[in-house]
Amino acid sequence: MTDTTDRSAEPWQWDEPTWRGHVERVRAGARLVPPSWPGGARVAVAISFDPDHETIPLRDGETRPGKLAQGEYGARVAVPKILRMLADHRVPASFFMPGVSALLHPDEVEAYAAGGHEIGVHGWIHERNMLLAREDELDLTVRAIETLEKLSGVRPVGIRTPAGTSPTTRWPSSSSSAWSTTRP
Ligand SMILES: [Zn+2]
Repeated sequence: MTDTTDRSAEPWQWDEPTWRGHVERVRAGARLVPPSWPGGARVAVAISFDPDHETIPLRDGETRPGKLAQGEYGARVAVPKILRMLADHRVPASFFMPGVSALLHPDEVEAYAAGGHEIGVHGWIHERNMLLAREDELDLTVRAIETLEKLSGVRPVGIRTPAGTSPTTRWPSSSSSAWSTTRP
């Protein structure tokens, strides 16, 4: 949907289709809570991480050592701590990893898989997917799916887009997505 809001108008001047349109665009959709959780649990909690590492500066064409080193720090220091903590508490988690990040840290991908964690799609190079043409966004998503599958041995079924969900964001029709943390 294209946002046709007249930005020179104040919100109190908007007509009903305008303010209603903004709200309807972000409605949560179908209720996903099942009648009961497995084992009679009172609540379900999903824990997830985005190991972006060096892809944020790379996405912006930023190649200075300081910025790239910040990404490496996450991979070298934070991830092992997170994996130890999850193992200590026997908690499975989901890791949404950009394809380039996975290629830079293949051992990390293996560690996620070996720890029983889910590996989900998080773009190719943490691109600003909302600014891309649909074909480019799809192409990068497919590349990311294939890269994560090759490195982990498991085809991802979850996606968290790197930079929001555009009206054209779609999971490739050649793959089936089980779930998304962004609006499909
Ligand atoms: Zn991210």
